[in-house]
Amino acid sequence: MRDKVARALLSRLILSLAAGEILALALSQYLQIPHAKAMVATAILAIVALASFVLSLRPLTELFLNLSTALKAGNKPSDLLLKELGELGNALAVAWERWEKTFAELKEERVLLTAILERMAEGVIAADEHGNVLLINSAAAQMFRLPLDWSNRRVTELALPFGLLELVQRTMKLGTPQFGEVQLLHPEERFLDAYATPLIADGKRIGVLLVARDLTELKRLERIRRDFVANVSHELRTPIATLRSLTEALLIGGKDDPEVRDKFLQAIADEAERMSKLLENLLELARLEAGRREWRWQNVSASDCVAQVVERFKPFAERKGLKLTVRTEPDLTVRTDPEALAQILSNLLDNAVKYTERGEIAVVAERLETADGVWVAVHVRDTGIGIPPEHLPRIFERFYRVDKARSRQQGGFGLGLSIAKHLAESLGGKITVQSEVGKGSIFTVWLPLSKLE
Ligand code: ADP
Repeated sequence: MRDKVARALLSRLILSLAAGEILALALSQYLQIPHAKAMVATAILAIVALASFVLSLRPLTELFLNLSTALKAGNKPSDLLLKELGELGNALAVAWERWEKTFAELKEERVLLTAILERMAEGVIAADEHGNVLLINSAAAQMFRLPLDWSNRRVTELALPFGLLELVQRTMKLGTPQFGEVQLLHPEERFLDAYATPLIADGKRIGVLLVARDLTELKRLERIRRDFVANVSHELRTPIATLRSLTEALLIGGKDDPEVRDKFLQAIADEAERMSKLLENLLELARLEAGRREWRWQNVSASDCVAQVVERFKPFAERKGLKLTVRTEPDLTVRTDPEALAQILSNLLDNAVKYTERGEIAVVAERLETADGVWVAVHVRDTGIGIPPEHLPRIFERFYRVDKARSRQQGGFGLGLSIAKHLAESLGGKITVQSEVGKGSIFTVWLPLSKLE
């Protein structure tokens, strides 16, 4: 631009001088004025012409100044300015519009990409070919407790688990995707499935991408399933082995001795009974977990339901010399499935009797208000063996028993509490436990108190 202006000035100057020389010649010729005087007059004329030209250039310089200020500040030049710039202004307006459109598209793409990355359960980390971090999504930041400010950091400075760093470094070195499973021990045990792959753009390697998936929950469920199959097989193996040996003993001669025969037949009946109880429990659990149990919701008097179940357990308690008492507040009406409530209370009372050798079992039903609602709470309190604190978090798991031998001897499978918990939760409630070894336990069933319909 500056060249153009200089050229225009020069050409104006030459033209003025040439015109001045011609003018001076004409003046000296026709007006009889000495040539030198004519030259001076012409020079003055030329200077006046040039000055007027330079003055006419000033607004243009100002326009360029305004334009460059606007562009430097990243602002669109005003419509007036573009108009004043004429053809150049038109071209600038078209270019600006195109640039704005491209910028908006890029921004939209970036927003979408960020939203996707932030929603992903997988941890994603990208780095350039020199190992400088380009991106970390929140799943990765949470998974590896990474600093929030990761710009200007290298992947090696992120304190990533060693197994993952190794994947990244192998990918950078070999230029091929690398897969691996990584087990973390701190702060808690976790299993990750991870892969690192080169980032390619326009056929060129520009960095590395690391993706890690947390498999801990999946592994836990897998373990529960495996344990379940193993537990069921184990529970069935013992009675089946007993049945087989009893029948064999009968076949090889036991049947001929009436006393042995009766004893063995009774044992067979007991084992068969035990197996059918186990199957019943398993079917009940399966129905609950598959959501296939049929519910009969009614307005139920909790006091009546508690009294009926307690009555059923009186003979068992008496047989062990235990006192069984019941105290209920009047008018405890809940909307619930009475059969399910009775089953929960039976399982709790069954345990209370099984795991108490002396003392008392007290059942109390009352209305309680807590921070999370209004409830009918039924407490089953015993003075039994109690549960060590380290076992408390697991006693509601399927097949979990504190003392396997003792539970088995009492005819338990370790399923009663998990069924009770499932039922209580399906009824909109919960079960809690407090226990002290040697002193006893209190199991509480919480049922939400609803308005009568
Ligand atoms: P089980 O058929 O073995 O009784 P549960 O699921 O009902 O199975 O209970 C799981 C375990 O919790 C029991 O094996 C026992 O160790 C413990 N437990 C449950 N209730 C009591 C209780 N009232 N007193 C002491 N221990 C209990």
